[in-house]
Amino acid sequence: MAMDFINNCSLITQHCVFCDLPGHAGGHLCAGCFADLPWLTKPCFRCALPLPSSGHEQLCRLCLKKPPHFSQTTALFSYQFPIDLLMPKIKQQQQRYHFKWLSQCIAKRLDSQQLLAQALIPVPIAKSKLLLRGYNQAEQLALELSRHLQIKLDRTTVSKNRDTPAQAKLSAKARKTNLSGAFDIGEHHYRHIAIIDDVMTTGATANEIAKALIKSGVERVDVWIVARTPV
Ligand SMILES: [Zn+2]
Ligand SMILES: [Zn+2]
Repeated sequence: MAMDFINNCSLITQHCVFCDLPGHAGGHLCAGCFADLPWLTKPCFRCALPLPSSGHEQLCRLCLKKPPHFSQTTALFSYQFPIDLLMPKIKQQQQRYHFKWLSQCIAKRLDSQQLLAQALIPVPIAKSKLLLRGYNQAEQLALELSRHLQIKLDRTTVSKNRDTPAQAKLSAKARKTNLSGAFDIGEHHYRHIAIIDDVMTTGATANEIAKALIKSGVERVDVWIVARTPV
């Protein structure tokens, strides 16, 4: 599958960010490094956690036990080497150009149902964080996806009303209330939304936004991400 992506991407003579060989995939990775990325080959249909390679199940144990509010997740990678180095680097060094090839690869994984989303909503960050960082990484990815797929980018319907600590750093008890009520939903007429984020760790943020959107009248929420943290 990885080779198909390479063959479909335009070849530009730049250099690979990992090994400095001539680049493919929009010029930023060489063919070898591209093929060796930790592509998710058998993710949970609902939340994109990796499933055992043997067996025919479509859902992970967690989704069978307590399904999230979103319907389907599309992710490219397991969040491990070297994606766990690349994603922070994009953020720290503002290497936004990577979102172009990443969004092209995400687009190739979407099915016809997912492509019916009426708007792409990037996971918002609190205003205080936005001032500190200067930009929202999820929004940059959503912008590329919107251009590529000609689906509306909506930056305003969902907003975050306070900064919250990362779920992964909290106790189980604190996790339950950390995100509660943290997202405001403006007026809209959507029935189908895709939430866009760079990395999904516990899935709690996407779940909280999906819950709020569904409460506001949306019938289906999907999640499109670059990478999923394995548990
Ligand atoms: Zn390389
Ligand atoms: Zn799952």
